[in-house]
Parts: sequence; structure tokens; C-alpha cells
Amino acid sequence: MVDLQGQYQSLKEQVNTSITQILESSAYINGPHVHAFQKELEEYLGVKHVIPCANGTDALQIAMMGLGLKPGDEVITADFTFAATVEVIGLLQLTPVLVDVELDTFNIDPIAIEKAITPKTKAIVPVHLFGQCANMDVILDIAKKHNLFVIEDNAQAIGANYNFKDGSSKKAGTIGHVGSTSFFPSKNLGCYGDGGAIFTNDDALAHTLRGIVNHGMYERYHHDVVGVNSRLDSIQAAVLSAKLPNLNAYCESRRTAAKKYSEAFEGQENIVVPEMAKTKGNNSYDNHVFHQYTLRITNGKRDELVKHLNEKEIPCGVYYPIPLHKQKAYADSRYKEENFTITNKLVKEVISLPMHTELDNEQIDYITSTVIGFVNG
Ligand SMILES: *Cc1c(COP(=O)(O)O)cnc(C)c1O
Repeated sequence: MVDLQGQYQSLKEQVNTSITQILESSAYINGPHVHAFQKELEEYLGVKHVIPCANGTDALQIAMMGLGLKPGDEVITADFTFAATVEVIGLLQLTPVLVDVELDTFNIDPIAIEKAITPKTKAIVPVHLFGQCANMDVILDIAKKHNLFVIEDNAQAIGANYNFKDGSSKKAGTIGHVGSTSFFPSKNLGCYGDGGAIFTNDDALAHTLRGIVNHGMYERYHHDVVGVNSRLDSIQAAVLSAKLPNLNAYCESRRTAAKKYSEAFEGQENIVVPEMAKTKGNNSYDNHVFHQYTLRITNGKRDELVKHLNEKEIPCGVYYPIPLHKQKAYADSRYKEENFTITNKLVKEVISLPMHTELDNEQIDYITSTVIGFVNG
């Protein structure tokens, strides 16, 4: 599904030099490399504050802690996403409220968000799923109208631009009150272990978050709030600093591969290619960074296709096979199946094909002809 070796080979000298330097310096934690990466990412994203932390799940949790959300507060998020999003809501004893997504973009449905709002609702967590921004124009309007926080789970869309209806544009993750990301190796900007970060333009919130990641300490051995221990280490920061200057090029390679996939599948009955923003009225393709390239197989042959591709040794994935509202940990008697028709359909239809920065035409031709031959064969 991903080719991490190819990227490493192209950055090998730089990465190895930095890592050796860190080993010699013994500044393994909170060293200059972490600070340097933080500044570089702030500049890249055009955001005032980046707070590095240990992983993307922590980033989400710390963001929610920083906003002062309290047990019983309701937090609305998508039914169709990775479990980390709802997990941290549950862990903080907030009440997750799962809502349906849109069929064409796989992203949280603003209409479903508005329907789910109650007097207890405090925050919305849009997940920019598979690398494409959720409908932030409408989500920000809803949040403003109901006085809600917007926390962007940007683990899959770092580098994406969100192009607002008024023509302005911002980087994904810097649009709401706070955003989070993951540097897990297979993410679009991945390190060689675990890593994550929180983004915000709010100075006071950034100060709070910096304390929370460090045991609630704002002054050495003064613990003002309950915090956690969540750090990005120097070695991971050095890897990320080597990769960040290439992030735009990585995004472009992914978009190019996605375009080739979609061209090959054009006109195929039973295969629905992922929607790109341009077809929704924006004038740019850059709001999608294709963390995943995900098709819908609409003739009921998705599971057979997975088996067939496995036999042909073509990697593929089903993200995600079970809606969160049907997971034991997150089921809730208040949920009604008729409110999850899209997610219930997607879990049976979606399949993600190999997507990374090293895909070549020959691989794409082989993959697309194998898929088409099987689905419509
Ligand atoms: C990967 C991911 C996370 C969690 O990131 P980790 O670094 O693995 O903790 C959270 N949300 C989404 C949508 C993700 O894809």
C-alpha cells in the first residue's frame, strides 16, 4: 500500500547525518531538532503555533483537554473514520455523537451535524478523510451559529489546502479553533516511529496546550493543570525536517497517481472514483492530498475483489469495514440505523488501492486493468 523505502533512499544522507548528530549530542528529547521542526511546520502551514507531541491520538486528546471540555459535553464527529477520533472523546468522558457522512466525499455531512446539535453540544470534530478537507465553509457557519469549537482531525490531510467559497485558502488543520495531525510512518508526512502535533492560531490556547503536553507544568515543578506526557523525540523531528521541504512534491505525486487511476476507471460501470473538489465548484485540485485512493464498488463484488487482488499480490485495504456506531465500545441505544444509511453503504463498497509517492505508470496500469477485468469481467 505504501513504499516507505523509496522515500528513505532519496533522503538517506540527510536523515543519517542528522540522526548521527543527535546520537552524538545526546539531546534525545526536546533538543534543537524538535524546536527547528516546530518552526518549519508553523511556517509551512501559516499557523502561529505548532505544539509537537507523541502521536496523532494524543494530539486530539490534548486539543480537547486544552479547550476545557468537561464530562458530559457532547462532541459530534463522523461515523466513518478511524476509531482514534471517537476513542479520545470517550476516554475524556465526553459524549461522542456519531453522525453520517457524504456519499461522494466520504466526509462528515454538515446537515447531519446540524441535526445532532443539542444544548449539551460543545464541539465538532471534522475528519479530513483520505486526504480531502471536509466542507469547512458550512461547518464553520454551523459552529459560529451554535457557539461550538471546531477541532480538525487532520491526520490524513496534512499539506491539503482548503479553498473557501470567497476565494481565500488555508492549510488543512489551521481552519478551526485547533487542529491535530499524526506523523505515523504511513501518513503523508510520516516519521520513523510515532509522532504528532497540534496546531492553533490562539495564543492562550497554545500556552495551555504546551503545559498539558508536559505534565501540566508551566513553571518547573509547578503543576497547574492535569496534563500528560506526550513528546516528539529529536530523531523523529529530524526525519520530519528532512521530509517537510518535499511535502508539496509528495502531495503532487499522489494527486498525479490519483488522476491516472481515475482516468483509467472513467466510464466503468460499477466503479465510482473519488470525488475531487474541482467538481464541487472550487477551482483547484489541491484540497485533496490522497492519503488514500478509495473507490466504491457498486455491484456487490467488493469482498470478492479484495480476495482477487490478494491473489494477484496487489495490496489493497478496506478503510473502514465497520461503522463506529456498530463497534461494541461506541454503540449507543440512541443511535438509529436510518441515520447512518451512507456509512452503512460505504463499509460494504469501499476499497483503497496502493497510494504513495513512488507509484509508476506500469504499476498503475497493472492495478487498474486487474480491477476493471475483475469487477466488470
Ligand atoms: C492515524 C489517525 C489518527 C491517529 O494517529 P496516531 O498517530 O496513529 O495516533 C487519528 N485520526 C485519524 C483519522 C487517523 O487516520
